[in-house]
Amino acid sequence: MATTTNKDYYAMLGVKKTATPEEIRKAFRKAARRYHPDVNPGDKKAEEKFKEISEANDILSDEKKRKIYDQVGFYSDQIDPATAEAYARQQREGSRPPVDFGGFDFNGFSGDPGAGPQGFGSFKDIFSGIFSGAQHPHAPRGPQPGTDLEYQATVDFWTAIRGGQARIQINRQEVCPTCHGQAHTGGAKTCTECHGTGQVTQMGGRMKFNITCPSCNGTGKTSNDCATCHGEGTVTRSETVEFRINPGTRDGQRIRLQGKGNAGMNGGPAGDLFLIVRTGTHPVFTRLGDDIQLTVPITVAEAALGAKVEVPTIDGRAHLKIPPGTQSGQKLRMRERGVESASHPGQRGDEIVTVEVAVPHLNDERSREIMRELARLNPDDPRKTLFDKL
Ligand SMILES: [Zn+2]
Ligand SMILES: [Zn+2]
Repeated sequence: MATTTNKDYYAMLGVKKTATPEEIRKAFRKAARRYHPDVNPGDKKAEEKFKEISEANDILSDEKKRKIYDQVGFYSDQIDPATAEAYARQQREGSRPPVDFGGFDFNGFSGDPGAGPQGFGSFKDIFSGIFSGAQHPHAPRGPQPGTDLEYQATVDFWTAIRGGQARIQINRQEVCPTCHGQAHTGGAKTCTECHGTGQVTQMGGRMKFNITCPSCNGTGKTSNDCATCHGEGTVTRSETVEFRINPGTRDGQRIRLQGKGNAGMNGGPAGDLFLIVRTGTHPVFTRLGDDIQLTVPITVAEAALGAKVEVPTIDGRAHLKIPPGTQSGQKLRMRERGVESASHPGQRGDEIVTVEVAVPHLNDERSREIMRELARLNPDDPRKTLFDKL
């Protein structure tokens, strides 16, 4: 509920009192981007802040409302511009009433000996007591669009590569099946606040004001809230949503499902559901964009002499040529053996093989002798360059 007292809307938006409508619009956009609930899910402080700046923007971006706010120091729908003008003049001239209080009933005012011009508190004090928290709680609502939802959807490694159907369980607000979003059951009852008169009396300092009943907006009747949705018009339901995954879908990709967000109110359209795809992992393959990475062990002989070895790819087995003198940790690229690109149809990523030389365990004397012989024939020190750089 909006409170109408003592708020510095200019400070909330971080603009000067002389700010142009354009400056206000820009300041609000900037602040809204920072504090929007979608950007700060579950952050109560940000939500509170967002409400504040929205309220400030609501008043300051409306020329008429802003004028009343500037003149009186707060804003209420129940203050007409003429009253605000009169108050501002009174403040400027330092004079005291008579002030035209528009639709207010000064019932009981004249009879009070203590009242009179000097009996006025500040106009602001009087109004703040009356209006704080009483701003149209049951104002008629027009169609309101439903809010968007965002979920992370983990998709199996192979489904992300080859495409297919996936599903996710979400909680979304649906139109209440009992009242069909009307939020009430149709039958009206007498307003308990004003007992059907449509007006309530409030004390402001020594004055009594008759004001429009805030509970029923002056109609004298309130509707029966729907028992299923408690007057919300929507109910939260858990739902399994099925969606399509295109071949080559990458981790972090966003999928938009139109109309699968929260239901709108009073016939407003439903919001959208945004899914952030998280692709699953694989014990052998690692996906990096459209490329596939994996580590393949090779023998010392294959590394030294070169060889053609069989390696796994996402399409099955394939042959990889190991050049003679391949070092452990070296990366060999197999062109177009990666994932089919979702954004560039017909193109594929590569498979990048990191070779890892497996050193043999020599369990017999003959093998060890051959290895020593090999060392004698190749006396190069592999650490030499290391010391040269010192
Ligand atoms: Zn009422
Ligand atoms: Zn309902």
